[in-house]
Amino acid sequence: MGVKTLKFGGSSVADGIQLAKIKEIVDSDPERRYVVVSAPGKRFDGDSKITDLLFMCKAQADANIPYEQLLQVVTDRYSAIKYNLDIDVDLDKCYDEILDKLAKGCSEAYIVSRGEYLSAVLVAAYLGYDFVDTEGLIVFDKKGRLLSEETNERLSKELAKHERAVLPGFYGSYLESGEICLLSRGGSDVTGSLVARAVDADIYENWTDVSGLLMADPRVVTNPKPIDTISYMELRELSYMGASVLHEDAVFPVRLSNIPINIRNTNAPDDPGTIITTENEQTSGKVLSGIAGKTPFTVITVYKNMMNKEIGYVRRALTVLEDMGISFDHIPTGIDSLSVVIESSELEDKLEDVLHEFEQRLHPDEITVVPDIALIAVVGMGLSRTVGVSAKITAALAESKVNIRMINQGTNEINVIVGVESKDFKAAIRAIYNAFVD
Ligand code: ASP
Repeated sequence: MGVKTLKFGGSSVADGIQLAKIKEIVDSDPERRYVVVSAPGKRFDGDSKITDLLFMCKAQADANIPYEQLLQVVTDRYSAIKYNLDIDVDLDKCYDEILDKLAKGCSEAYIVSRGEYLSAVLVAAYLGYDFVDTEGLIVFDKKGRLLSEETNERLSKELAKHERAVLPGFYGSYLESGEICLLSRGGSDVTGSLVARAVDADIYENWTDVSGLLMADPRVVTNPKPIDTISYMELRELSYMGASVLHEDAVFPVRLSNIPINIRNTNAPDDPGTIITTENEQTSGKVLSGIAGKTPFTVITVYKNMMNKEIGYVRRALTVLEDMGISFDHIPTGIDSLSVVIESSELEDKLEDVLHEFEQRLHPDEITVVPDIALIAVVGMGLSRTVGVSAKITAALAESKVNIRMINQGTNEINVIVGVESKDFKAAIRAIYNAFVD
């Protein structure tokens, strides 16, 4: 029998109605054997996520503000699910332990991790699966860095003993002290990926509240087409530019073992969703996979006659940024000019200082600053193999009267980055989308 690992996000475990959907999904396929869950998320607009409430509980405890009522709101959510679905599980013991530890001054990570812990205890009992805690299985070094090989060994060894199991997402523990350590926000995606690798799953199904990725942001393009298949590399480019559906670090563990990820919708389980995989015939045939963009960026351009002959010029410019702790996104260069494209939030009040240092260290003929630039990534495996892609992009933008401030093809040849003024951001995305998608 094959093995599938599933991860259900916060909205999929938000209440009893959602849990009933999960059960139907899991029961419909005997290969769905390992399930990772988040803490309950929002049930409606304005509702609270359990994880946020637990962070607040700890903050109140630390500030000597009564937190019992807030904790009650948390435990009531789990109790309501238990009673609604008539799940035979003793949660009171868990609640008492949390109260006790909170009173004694436990770590923030411990209290916050209980969101996922209780969720997994509940779902395991409801599905009739074993509960397997990730404490002591997913391990971190002293600095909180995931020890992936050690984790893989521990998880594989433990899960080999369980035919079917539910595990909490989002946390593990420090290898040395054994204390709970959290992953970053949204980290249950990473737990799911680690579990998929450990059990050598055929597929990692990531169940959420959308039917996969869309080719463009639906707030910008009306009814964008869904992406059926995309490579890990393309996903990375799109996520970096703002398309978010999966935690960034979730790709690495499954990528190591070539396990595809399938983004699925708990509320529309018949939708096929998006498959994320290594480059294959399916992904390489397409010219365009998706478009995403971010704004605002600032472009600083330094002009200097014969710059190309001056050894170390670019390095000196980049040293200025390094010394000031500023990260940049792109450095398009010409023969006599060098531009640095920086996310405006990185610069904040440092712009004047950067310009001053550039003057001092680079002795330029001229420096220009263009604020408020939007960058748009046009991503697709087929871009490098297709003649005339840039021409198509520029023609589409010209037709929509959008002025291009920068255009750059990534060296991995799966993306073309276009810089336009922020006011043209949406128009540019629409124009490019319409040029490539019928
Ligand atoms: N519950 C955690 C969060 O809200 C982790 C997760 O859902 O993946 O970030």
